Amino acid sequence: ASGEVTANMVDGLCQESFPPCMQQLNRAVRTDHHLKYNGRLQYGLFLKGVGLSLDESMRFWRSEFTKLIELEKFERQYAYSIRYNYGKEGRRKDYTPYSCMKLIMGAPPAAGDHHGCPFRFTAPDLLAQRLKGMKISSTQADSVMEMVKGNHYQLACSRCFAAVHDQPPDDMVAIDHPNQYFELSQRILH
Ligand code: SF4
Repeated sequence: ASGEVTANMVDGLCQESFPPCMQQLNRAVRTDHHLKYNGRLQYGLFLKGVGLSLDESMRFWRSEFTKLIELEKFERQYAYSIRYNYGKEGRRKDYTPYSCMKLIMGAPPAAGDHHGCPFRFTAPDLLAQRLKGMKISSTQADSVMEMVKGNHYQLACSRCFAAVHDQPPDDMVAIDHPNQYFELSQRILH
């Protein structure tokens, strides 16, 4: 049986298999010990899709946020919205993780925000620099940036996925959901 995904496993899984949009959010929360509303929603629902239970999710957010704020403040201001993602508050709807389309078409990130699809919203120079930091060749990075320039963001991500996982371009899968990216990656790696 596939074991439970715990808060402690997030960084390892992120390094292995998270798509660029979620790597960006994980980096931000680890650095800032905070994420704004849209980022919390995007990343919280993604982590739920990865398999974190409500308890593990709460542990993840609490351990980061309380590096900056008091536990009492965390409980008062943020615990609700984490339970909300799991349908335990408000309308008690069980919220599903956002698709690529939603992250591409959704509210653009303002200063200090880290949500959305980086292929859509990150400045090309910075994006090219980030791609260099991934284990892909400069030719591959160029071919990703070519798709970005044509506004083909999901294709850019698909090319990026193929490059990171050493998949021949002919077998390239079309990425349309961050959790699909994650699951495909885990299947290839394990
Ligand atoms: Fe994330 Fe989808 Fe954008 Fe890839 S295309 S970075 S999975 S939102």
